[in-house]
Amino acid sequence: MTRWGMVIDLEKCVGCDTCSAACSQMNHVPSGAGWRQVIPLDTPKLGNPQNGRLFLPTNCMHCGDAPCQTVCPTTATFRHADGIVDIHDELCIGCGYCVVACPYLARTITRYDEVYAFTPELLPAATDRSGICTKCDFCLPRVEAGLVQGLTPGIDAAASPNCVNFCIADAIHFGDLHDPDSNISRMIQAKPTMRLQEDLGTDPAIQYVMRADYPGMNGAAVELVPPRKQKVWHKPAAFNFILGGTGAAVYLLGLWLDWLGAPVTDWYKLLAPVLIGLGLLGLTLEAGRPFRSVHIFRGWRHSWMSREAWAAAFFLPLAAAAWLWPDSLLDWLAALAALAFLISQSFIVYRSRAVTAWNRPIILWVMVAASFVSGAGLFLLAAALFHQAVISYLAAAGLVSVLAQGGLWLVYLHGSGDKAFDLGTAVLRKPRSLLATMGLGVVVPLILLAGMLLVDLPALLLGVTAVISGGAMLLGSAGLKAQLILQAGYLRGIQAGPVR
Ligand code: SF4
Ligand code: SF4
Repeated sequence: MTRWGMVIDLEKCVGCDTCSAACSQMNHVPSGAGWRQVIPLDTPKLGNPQNGRLFLPTNCMHCGDAPCQTVCPTTATFRHADGIVDIHDELCIGCGYCVVACPYLARTITRYDEVYAFTPELLPAATDRSGICTKCDFCLPRVEAGLVQGLTPGIDAAASPNCVNFCIADAIHFGDLHDPDSNISRMIQAKPTMRLQEDLGTDPAIQYVMRADYPGMNGAAVELVPPRKQKVWHKPAAFNFILGGTGAAVYLLGLWLDWLGAPVTDWYKLLAPVLIGLGLLGLTLEAGRPFRSVHIFRGWRHSWMSREAWAAAFFLPLAAAAWLWPDSLLDWLAALAALAFLISQSFIVYRSRAVTAWNRPIILWVMVAASFVSGAGLFLLAAALFHQAVISYLAAAGLVSVLAQGGLWLVYLHGSGDKAFDLGTAVLRKPRSLLATMGLGVVVPLILLAGMLLVDLPALLLGVTAVISGGAMLLGSAGLKAQLILQAGYLRGIQAGPVR
C-alpha cells in the first residue's frame, strides 16, 4: 500500500520561501493562514561548522498516528488509505481542537476577512472555507489527477505537489515511502535523515536530510523552533470549563446530599443544566462555523469533545426530567451523564497534545478537583441563603476538594517540564497568581471550612462564613481554570530527532 511522503534536504534549502508562495497561490490558501512555513534556524546554537544558515521548511507531516485526527469531534479530519491526512471542509466547525493537538504548528483556523483578502471578487465563492481549519493536503487533487493519467507522483511534475515543482534548489522531494525503490526511499537509504518530534510517536511522513555532525545536534534531539502561545482557545473556552465543570459538580453534590438524607431542595437540578448549557453556548459561538455544530456528535468514537457534547445532550433533558419526577432512576442517569461530562472536559484538556502544560496526566485530576471546589462553593453560597442545615455536609465535601485542589496544583506547578511547560506555567507560579489560586482558592476556604466544622457558630455567623468561603472557592477555582487555559497554553517547540 502506498504511503505518500516527502524528503526535504536542509543542506539545499536556501530559505527563499518560493515553495510557500507557490503553495498559497496554487491552493488559494487564505492570507492569514499558511500551509507551509520556512523557518530560519538558530544555527549558531546548532554549531554549524561552516557558519552558514539553515532553514526548516515545514508543512503538515501527514502523521501515521495523527493527534489532530484523534481529537477532531466532527470527523472532519480523516486519513486517506495512501496516508494523506485531509479535512472534509463541509464538516469542520472551526473548534480549533486540532490546532492545540497538532505538535507541528501545521494548522490554522481561517477567518472570513482573511479568505482571498487580495482577491475580493472571489470572496463570495470562498465563504465555505472561512471559519474552518486549513492545512497542507500534499496537493492531493494534483496527485490523484496525475495517477489517473498514469503519471508518477514525485517524478512527473503534473502529478507532484506544487512546492516540489517550484522549489528553486531541488530541496523538496515527494514519493512513496513504502516503495523501497521510490525516489525518496533511495534518498533516505543514501543520506543521513531525521524526523521532527520523533519522540512523540506520531510517525511523520516527512524526513529531513541533515548532516549529523553539527556539534549542537550531539546525536540527540534538539529544539529547532521555540514554543509559541496558542491563539485558538480564548475566554469562551475557559468559561465552558468553568461553568460546565461547576454545573456537573453541583448536580453530583446535590444528589449526594439527597442520598445522605440531607434537607436539600431540588433547585440544583435546574441550575446545573443551565450552567452547562451556558458554557456550551459560549463555546459554540467561539467556533468558526457555529451553525454546523450538530456535526460535533459524529466523532464520539475517538474525540473527547464529541463525548462532552453527547454527555451534555443526555444530561440536559435527564436533569430536567429528574426535577419533574424526583426520587427516580432519572436522578442517577442524570448523575452518570454529569460524571461523563466532567470526565470528558478533563480529557479534552489532557488530549491537547501540542500544549505540554495541558498534556500531562495530573491535569485530569486538577480539572476534576477544581470543578468540585467551584461546585461546593456555589452550593455553600446557596445553602447560606436557603438551607443552612446542609452547610456542615458541604463544609466537609468542600474541605476534601479544596485540599485535593491545593495539593494537586502544587504538585502540578513543581512538575518537571519542557520549555513550553516552563514558559506556560511561569506566570502561574508568580505571587499574584498564587495569591488567587492558593490563597483565595485554598488557604482562606480551608480556615473557614475547618472553623465551620469545628466551632458551633451562631446562625448569622455561620451564614456569613459560608458565603465568604463559598465565594472564595468559586473565585479561586475559576481563576485556576482560567489561568490554565488562557495563560499556560504554549504550543510545544519543534524538535529535530536524532539523525540516522
Ligand atoms: S502534522 Fe499536525 S495536522 Fe498534520 S497530520 Fe500531523 S498532527 Fe495532523
Ligand atoms: S472540526 Fe475542529 S478539530 Fe475537526 S478539523 Fe475542524 S477545527 Fe479541527
